[in-house]
Amino acid sequence: MENLRFCPQCGHEKLLWNNITKWSCGNCDFILYHNTAAAVAVIIKCKDEIFFTVRNQEPGLGKWDLSGGFTDPEESSEETCSRELYEELGLTINPEEFKYLGSQPNIYPYKNIDYNTLDLFYLYEVEEKFEIQLEESEISDGIWVKNPDIDFDKIAFESQKRFLKQFLL
Ligand SMILES: [Zn+2]
Repeated sequence: MENLRFCPQCGHEKLLWNNITKWSCGNCDFILYHNTAAAVAVIIKCKDEIFFTVRNQEPGLGKWDLSGGFTDPEESSEETCSRELYEELGLTINPEEFKYLGSQPNIYPYKNIDYNTLDLFYLYEVEEKFEIQLEESEISDGIWVKNPDIDFDKIAFESQKRFLKQFLL
């Protein structure tokens, strides 16, 4: 975060990063917080199989990802689950159908900025596997993987590896 050096308010090269969440200017009263962002990850499960998307962009290009994403302002995390599954997979699911499981912290590096996230994990269980309609270029494929065949090295994010290892015990 040291790559941001100039204060956007007074223009002096006095912007200081506190190594946690805050920039402050040494010349004026400017302060900018870079707080932890909420994000969701949905474990879509059918019997002993889990659904993964295959990422089509960095971070984690070509790796497996759970469907989900960042929570928008004024949105509940269940609404984020619904919106993301619609945007990514064309699925229409009521927010009440997602079951909260737990959370893990994550770091999402994007274009030289590290975003700290709190990933909220939800379960969505289906009786039958569905056909996917890929709606976004962020995803190159969607795959169903049987529990014993899940290769944790192929999963893009540490938070998902940690959570799934514990969830699938
Ligand atoms: Zn300033």
